[in-house]
Amino acid sequence: MIKKYDVIIAGAGMAGSIAAAVAAKRGLEVLLIDRNKIEEPGKKTNWGWVCGDAVATTHLDFLKTKLDIDFKYPELDLKVDGVLALSPNLKHKYLFDGKGFILNRPLFEKQLINKAIKNGAEYITEFSIESPLIENNYIKGIQGRNKNKELKKIYSDITIDALGISTPLRRKLPDNPFIDKTIDIDDIESTGRFIYEFNTKEENLDFYDPKNALIHLNQELAPGGYGWVFPKSNNKINIGIGIQKQSLEIRNKKLNRQDTLQSLMNNYIKMNPVFKNLKIYNEFNNGVGYWSVSVRRQMESLVFNGYIGAGDSMAMPNPISAGGIGPALIAGSLAGENAAIAIENKDVSIKGLWNYNIDYNKAYGNKTAGLEVFRTYMQSVNNNILNYGMKTFLTVDEAKALSYGDISNLSLSSKFKMILKGVSNMKAFSNLLYAVKKMKEFNKIYETYPNIENFEQWKKLVNKNIKEIKNYFKPNPI
Ligand SMILES: Cc1cc2nc3c(=O)[nH]c(=O)nc-3n(C[C@H](O)[C@H](O)[C@H](O)COP(=O)(O)OP(=O)(O)OC[C@H]3O[C@@H](n4cnc5c(N)ncnc54)[C@H](O)[C@@H]3O)c2cc1C
Repeated sequence: MIKKYDVIIAGAGMAGSIAAAVAAKRGLEVLLIDRNKIEEPGKKTNWGWVCGDAVATTHLDFLKTKLDIDFKYPELDLKVDGVLALSPNLKHKYLFDGKGFILNRPLFEKQLINKAIKNGAEYITEFSIESPLIENNYIKGIQGRNKNKELKKIYSDITIDALGISTPLRRKLPDNPFIDKTIDIDDIESTGRFIYEFNTKEENLDFYDPKNALIHLNQELAPGGYGWVFPKSNNKINIGIGIQKQSLEIRNKKLNRQDTLQSLMNNYIKMNPVFKNLKIYNEFNNGVGYWSVSVRRQMESLVFNGYIGAGDSMAMPNPISAGGIGPALIAGSLAGENAAIAIENKDVSIKGLWNYNIDYNKAYGNKTAGLEVFRTYMQSVNNNILNYGMKTFLTVDEAKALSYGDISNLSLSSKFKMILKGVSNMKAFSNLLYAVKKMKEFNKIYETYPNIENFEQWKKLVNKNIKEIKNYFKPNPI
């Protein structure tokens, strides 16, 4: 007899490990599969655990309520007071996000996987998943190669896709109106990230702040994205940039340059006045890495017959910050819970799994389309407007509210009247008002997530509005 699991969890990263821990705790027979070696838990790619590794304390608190795990040093490498976003001229700063930690990612992921195993999940390493098993429009498990490169099929009632942004499972789903199989290149940030040890040449809190994660908004340095300098313990930093391909091409053309992600990354490191004797810190072979992160709303549906998606496989990172650890942890835990409910109810059809869509929308997803609008707006303004806007358009509290997708308390129209006399860049300001208006509309659209019968119509409305925004706000970095 061929063994069949209740749930296969594909990918033992952030989303997959917590999904496995939760599903196993609920008594399901769980198989957690990853291509990594056992000593490389949660490694995203051959390049390593490529990430800024910043996570808000609220997300760790959430984990504790779900799984009773208490994290401490060394997996929580350094506590930070918040995330500080700086304008291109460094004169204006917004403090976002509240307290958090910079993780020692490999150690953190190891704890999560250990919890899943302790709760009863079976764990297979060095198994590379290639495709879903499809029967009668249902996902019935996965096919892939074990460490001896033998092709194997493994069966389950539900497959949770937590394979990250490069997932072959979502991309090989049967054609269906629920889950898009591709992500638009304009909705992806290409990133470089290095971890360094350093000595200090001079103090300059605009470039390195041991108490805050710094974000540099600058369309010339990091077109369509941003640069970051996140502090780590013992004179180490996590430093990187994210860029949008189209913005880079426009910038290069206008400035007559041939910069690439690598050359921009090198520039960004070189221009920082604080560090000297920079040396790649290569613990776990994780010092230098390049990878991608999506910055769109999550897939409109996260479920299909016998299939649930969680984390980067479903484009869950926050469209403004690209922070995806929090959403991956929330989604993984909800995926584990909803898988258990569907198995108990003996209904793993898309209808039987639909509640996960509703749960995720309520817990995190309902603000992301609005945030995608704001991201698209930000990519349409150059450094001059960014400098001027951060000084004039928004208070710190308003910017913070916007970053959470909360626009209810913004009195932009009264502000509009107030500064009408003085504001020098009316077009940019009225564009911001338009973006906020569209964010409000999206928040309304996502307020009530549709039932399965109304889904296609709802998705059409979402796509129509997104298209309108992308036509209105074109990348314009220089
Ligand atoms: C440069 C960069 C900086 C970032 N900075 C931050 C930050 O500071 N804070 C934040 O919150 N988020 C950040 N993010 C986003 C964050 O890293 C991700 O959202 C998060 O890792 C998502 O977790 P996940 O479990 O969904 O996927 P992943 O972390 O990608 O895990 C996927 C797992 O699946 C496995 N896998 C993949 N394919 C296969 C296969 N075919 N077969 C078997 N196993 C497979 C991998 O080995 C891995 O273990 C950043 C992203 C990037 C690229």
